[in-house]
Amino acid sequence: KRLPQRLLVTGGAGFIGSNFVRYWCQTYPEDRVVVLDALTYAGNRANLADLEANANLRFVQGNICDRALVETLLAEERIEAIAHFAAESHVDRSIHSPDAFVQTNVVGSFVLLDAFRYHWKSCLGADATAGNRMAFLHVSTDEVYGSLDPDDPPFSETTPYAPNSPYSASKAGSDHLARAYFHTYGMPAIVTNCSNNYGPYHFPEKLIPLTCINILLGKSIPVYGDGQNVRDWLYVLDHCRALDLVLHAGKPGETYTIGGNNEVKNIDLVHLLCKLMDELAPTLPVKTAGQLITFVKDRPGHDRRYAIDATKIHTELGWKPTATIASGLRQTVQWYLDNRAWWEPLLSEEYRDYYRQAYSA
Ligand code: NAD
Repeated sequence: KRLPQRLLVTGGAGFIGSNFVRYWCQTYPEDRVVVLDALTYAGNRANLADLEANANLRFVQGNICDRALVETLLAEERIEAIAHFAAESHVDRSIHSPDAFVQTNVVGSFVLLDAFRYHWKSCLGADATAGNRMAFLHVSTDEVYGSLDPDDPPFSETTPYAPNSPYSASKAGSDHLARAYFHTYGMPAIVTNCSNNYGPYHFPEKLIPLTCINILLGKSIPVYGDGQNVRDWLYVLDHCRALDLVLHAGKPGETYTIGGNNEVKNIDLVHLLCKLMDELAPTLPVKTAGQLITFVKDRPGHDRRYAIDATKIHTELGWKPTATIASGLRQTVQWYLDNRAWWEPLLSEEYRDYYRQAYSA
């Protein structure tokens, strides 16, 4: 069993990264956690505000493409494991401006992998047992596998890659680099491919927060195409627990697919959220949230269905999700109701520009 106690978390001010940092600090309070985050539009110091006083947590604003900075942090902090979340993560943005996706997701991941390779080697040189604690965890997505037809079996670790968007193609590129660093150099890299996450601190552009927020503002809820696209949904803390197990006991060089076993059509998800809003929001600007649903022109190249077979991580590491879609969505909707002060400032001019571009017919 690996025991990394000194972690570098890239993208730790984003949605999953900040949930992971909070989870790790609560579960392993003695561990050192260093967050490296460029604070792009999706990164937010407020996501970690409740952890400011934690002396074992250090926040560094910087870019994963900055090799000198990455090398300094690895050496100075005697990092044992990297949990690599930093990415451009939104498919719609990758369609309009793919450049940043290639830069951060491919080049940035390469910089981290390569810097970690030298750091790992020098740690092994100084202490042969260090290798037992070290790992590079590359957090990736199920979107690298492409799109499923209704009767296809779900994605698993053996599904061939077939990315369809600039986002998923850039993540596929970094997955392959991580794999190659294990096979070529023996560096202990592990890749996880997870389905759609949801939960607190999710940036407003994504379907679940967007639906909650638009309902609270009395704005229409845009649903792409016919709304029949199917996604698998996993509550973010279940993902964090899976990553914890992979970091501690996953096999170097392996891939683990992670999913919630919750396949839902987009339109059904939006209806579920509308029902929860009708129930949980004390006053709504409209009679029933459902009346705000508006179908909009489909996203180009929109994948039809994603689904995950998580048998391997279940049988090898004992992981299974704890939240159901009902319990997870209820908690999430309540969080958006309770945390208006968190999401309101994120609806910036930049966000409005993006929104107009994404949803104008
Ligand atoms: P996010 O967009 O909420 O957060 C990304 C974070 O990375 C932000 O804090 C941002 O500031 C930071 N970042 C971006 N470019 C950077 C750079 N060049 N240098 C340093 N920091 C940079 O994303 P998320 O939804 O939390 O996703 C995290 C990771 O998990 C991504 O790699 C994503 O591909 C993967 N993933 C996400 C989902 C999901 O449903 N959200 C599912 C599976 C996998």
